Amino acid sequence: MKNTPLALILATVTAGAGLLLSCGSSPTATPFSTPKVFRSSVKITEALIPEGRYGRAKNGRMSPRYITIHSTQNYGGGADARTHARLLQRGGLTSKNNSLGYLTWHFSVDDHSIYQSLPTNEQGQHADYDGTGNRKSIGIEMCENRGNSRSATLDRTARLTADLMRHHNIPISNVVPHQHWERIRYSDGRNLGHKNCPNFLMTNGKPGAKWQAFLNQIKSHL
Ligand SMILES: [Zn+2]
Repeated sequence: MKNTPLALILATVTAGAGLLLSCGSSPTATPFSTPKVFRSSVKITEALIPEGRYGRAKNGRMSPRYITIHSTQNYGGGADARTHARLLQRGGLTSKNNSLGYLTWHFSVDDHSIYQSLPTNEQGQHADYDGTGNRKSIGIEMCENRGNSRSATLDRTARLTADLMRHHNIPISNVVPHQHWERIRYSDGRNLGHKNCPNFLMTNGKPGAKWQAFLNQIKSHL
């Protein structure tokens, strides 16, 4: 993966449907003076986007009330958590559809690692453009790269989510799939509806038994 050419990684990531919606939002905002890396019972690697640049150029402050769960739908062998985090860090994931010009989220998780890209008190651009999903939620992307263990990724994500819930006093009712948010696209005002994400936890495009099982997995860590 270290040797994968950037162009190839970009093509892989850009081709993934999981992220290609992003959002808008972002009133003005002063970058925070003290980037805050969340401490968790599971190891988190700090890989914050440089303060004031790329996806943190004009992010708004946030008091998180929700946690939004995604999956990348990037199936390339190199599309792991580290690769996604490094892309965000160097401004490699741009978007013409939101006001920020970049896609961003807080945590990338795979079967052996977690990378943090944004402080949990800054808005991301991962869910619903100018909607509540971006203004009020912490975004977690689960990786789906080839060879990555889905069950280990889910377990790691459940543990991280439980820790975030405790830290920010967020109830399980506010842990939602990306599908929860209605997406009104910033660039043209078009209603894109609800995205089937994380697709492998949805049932016919909606939360069902698989999503409930994941919530139960989170609860087991509370
Ligand atoms: Zn998503």
